[in-house]
Amino acid sequence: MSQPTPVTNVQPNNCVTSLNGVGKALANKLAKIHIHTLLDLLLHIPLRYEDRTHVVPLNQLRPGMHCLIEAEVTGSALQRGRRTSLQVRLLEQNARLNLRFIHFHANQAKNFATGKKIRCFGEIRPGPQGLEMVHPEYHLFDQQPPELEATLTAVYSTTEGISQKRMRQLVTMAWQASEQQPHWLPELLPKVTIQQQNLPTIKQALAQLHFPTNNQPFDLAAASQSPAYQRLIIEELVAHQLCLLQARQQLNLSPAPCFEKHSATAELLQTQLPFTLTNAQQRVWQEIHADTQHHKPMIRMLQGDVGSGKTIVAALAACQAIDAGYQVVILAPTEILAEQHLHNFRQWLDPMQVSIIWLAGKQKASERRTSIEAIANGQAQVIVGTHAVFQERVDYHHLGLVIIDEQHRFGVAQRQALLQKAALGTTPHQLIMSATPIPRTLAMSAYGDLDHSIIDELPPGRKPINTVIINNQKRDQVITRIQSACSSGQQVYWICPLIETSEDLQCEAAEDTAVQLTEALPNLRIGLVHGRMTPIQKHQIMSRFKQAQIDLLVATTVIEVGVDVPNANLMIIDNAERLGLAQLHQLRGRVGRGQAHSHCLLMYQTPLSRLAKERLNILRQSNDGFAIAEKDLQLRGPGEVLGTRQAGSISLRIADLLRDAHLLPKIHELTKNYASRPDLSQQLVQRWVGSRQEFVSV
Ligand code: ADP
Ligand code: MG
Repeated sequence: MSQPTPVTNVQPNNCVTSLNGVGKALANKLAKIHIHTLLDLLLHIPLRYEDRTHVVPLNQLRPGMHCLIEAEVTGSALQRGRRTSLQVRLLEQNARLNLRFIHFHANQAKNFATGKKIRCFGEIRPGPQGLEMVHPEYHLFDQQPPELEATLTAVYSTTEGISQKRMRQLVTMAWQASEQQPHWLPELLPKVTIQQQNLPTIKQALAQLHFPTNNQPFDLAAASQSPAYQRLIIEELVAHQLCLLQARQQLNLSPAPCFEKHSATAELLQTQLPFTLTNAQQRVWQEIHADTQHHKPMIRMLQGDVGSGKTIVAALAACQAIDAGYQVVILAPTEILAEQHLHNFRQWLDPMQVSIIWLAGKQKASERRTSIEAIANGQAQVIVGTHAVFQERVDYHHLGLVIIDEQHRFGVAQRQALLQKAALGTTPHQLIMSATPIPRTLAMSAYGDLDHSIIDELPPGRKPINTVIINNQKRDQVITRIQSACSSGQQVYWICPLIETSEDLQCEAAEDTAVQLTEALPNLRIGLVHGRMTPIQKHQIMSRFKQAQIDLLVATTVIEVGVDVPNANLMIIDNAERLGLAQLHQLRGRVGRGQAHSHCLLMYQTPLSRLAKERLNILRQSNDGFAIAEKDLQLRGPGEVLGTRQAGSISLRIADLLRDAHLLPKIHELTKNYASRPDLSQQLVQRWVGSRQEFVSV
């Protein structure tokens, strides 16, 4: 391998093209894996290591080993079968090994002449004729074997068109550049932390991870426990937290509107409700109320299980903003959910002459224009809608409060776009509602400094839902059960979840199911609702179901959240194994709202994997959304729980929020050290978040 020429006088944040031999084309490929600068290369930590520092004798080979071997070729042959493969037989002392190539060319086959010496690196596997290596890296020689590597070989994540060898070369070049410039990697963690925990310096840590000596661990699981790796994890998490704090401080520079202490509308609304607020609702309402008496923008996450009554709390907050003369936006991820909010808010606020308007993607152009006008001139006080509310053409008159339901479905960028729609120089308060409980430390690491309110109490009279897991082959029994439930005057949901990725195909699946059920249950009134219907059609079906003019409602997951029909107390979820736990729990929350006992049948298709079974069992055993979410977090990781977009926005290089969750309290402590050192804080953020900063916002 030709040694790369070191470069001089470059800075850590110089583009990778400042390295010799790196052009635009290569830089573009690197950009795909978020490597833009020399520092990005240095912080690109290996996935694992390979040991090419010594040769393992053939008689010591075991399946599963990744190792370097040396032997003599004793013959080669084409093996004809389903796929022709090239088999090369090797011998050393009295031990044998086969090499197998499935992709090869004729010349290659000729090179394996009997008597040649060969050195190979690869994984040892059991083969049809003893141990073998499939597609090893190899080097044929006559006399002089190639030199052994001095250190373990790092294996990096890479992208199409950049070989491992090239990636190693690039990292090495960046490292050499850094070695010539002592100021490149200053120590940015507090000295006491380094000493107390016996951590290596940043330079030592990077050297150990990129160019490890022999006794370093081989795989990431082990490496991530090494002091070198731990050090980088801590540093990255601190940097990330500091970055979130900076973003939050930036936001605090623009004042939020200060709402009045007494909102006549909120007080009136409370007296007109057919129920009284639970203690938990009262408490949370007070927390929000207190937050909005200041010019500091509120960012409060309101968590509460499905059915815990988050909406009325949001409505009370909205009253406060309205009385202070501000507009309120209520944003939901699906049209059905947004419609449910529209319905609730109209029911509660129409009698108080509050003007509520609707804004959604599928609206008629003329209606949309009227809505947009009313938003701009301030006539609209409450705006309910889907993502259409943060589109460019929508200008707000006086936006003071943003309420986002089911936050994890919206990306940070979308939320940011909406905040920027507030009047120049002000920041609206934000209330983020979620039925998915995110552990506090995790939420802080994803959102920075946000406040939490939890409604930890259901309205009185709710009964737990009896959940059963049932094999799809027992469909007949399920149909009998529907028949008997409907005969006694109850109503039933049948949910057909995402089987196909395309919405059209999903709807077809629901249509097919509705046809089959209509044949099987000829005396029932069966309705169908799916995402391809117009909002008016959906609304008609939903209100007929609500008025008990439909017995059995077949629906895709569009139904999901917000739908409230107390007389429906049986739900069947088809292909339940394909849905996430949180989503299943939300769907199931549509039943159990009335007086009768409710049941949920989770139907699965065989074969069911062990993990899938375990997941469904969690749901069978628990009605507690918070406990379910914790389990979901353990089984699926924070990316899934926070939503992939959200996790993408976290964009950590080395740390892993779930694996390293135990470090988070320490990270929050460490972060405080930087309050008096904005220079260090800035350098740390620059080092780790640098070019990725656009992803982080609050
Ligand atoms: P979620 O928290 O899942 O959004 P909702 O706000 O949709 O729950 O409330 C679920 C149902 O409970 C609604 O029909 C709502 O009117 C009702 N509800 C809310 N608070 C109370 C309460 N304190 N007492 C009785 N019913 C309530
Ligand atoms: Mg809700």
